[in-house]
Amino acid sequence: AADHELLLSYIRDVPDWPEPGVMFKDITPLLRQPDVFAKTVDLLAAAADGPIDAVVGIEARGFILGAPVANRLGAGFVPVRKEGKLPSDTSSASYELEYGQATIEVHRDAFTDGERVLIVDDVLATGGTVRATVDLVRAAGAEVAAVSILMELGFLHGRKKLLDVDVHVLLSL
Ligand code: AMP
Repeated sequence: AADHELLLSYIRDVPDWPEPGVMFKDITPLLRQPDVFAKTVDLLAAAADGPIDAVVGIEARGFILGAPVANRLGAGFVPVRKEGKLPSDTSSASYELEYGQATIEVHRDAFTDGERVLIVDDVLATGGTVRATVDLVRAAGAEVAAVSILMELGFLHGRKKLLDVDVHVLLSL
């Protein structure tokens, strides 16, 4: 409970960003505070039950949180990026946004079969991004051991899209 309050106090609400009606959860104050950042990494890494071969971070804030989690677990790091950013051969997954569509990609040779992967991101909103990431990782032959998320916006019911995955969330709003 103390950790919960501490982390929450370093997340800034920015109303109407990037568009009207959205309450943006800004983690930059948390990242700026060394002990709070380190605590967050520890707690995110604790979602791993058993050995993890690779941590998958989702662009862009999933990179910032996922890379130190990978280090902490003695795992490698794999970036999942927005379309057109990765230099080598990629697999892609598309999903619906409120307005339009999004596509994310991963390098085709990122995993070997049966590897255990931990997916990390900052915010679980509608769940579309994590859903697509889970599908990408599985299609690439790896196993999703767990998903570790800093903050869930419960009123958007993102978990309903993730019933087949072990989802760990540090803060539920
Ligand atoms: P979704 O696919 O709807 O679950 O959205 C998840 C992605 O969008 C995550 O990568 C988040 O970083 C970002 N995101 C969605 N809503 C918010 C929000 N209110 N504040 C901060 N980031 C958000």
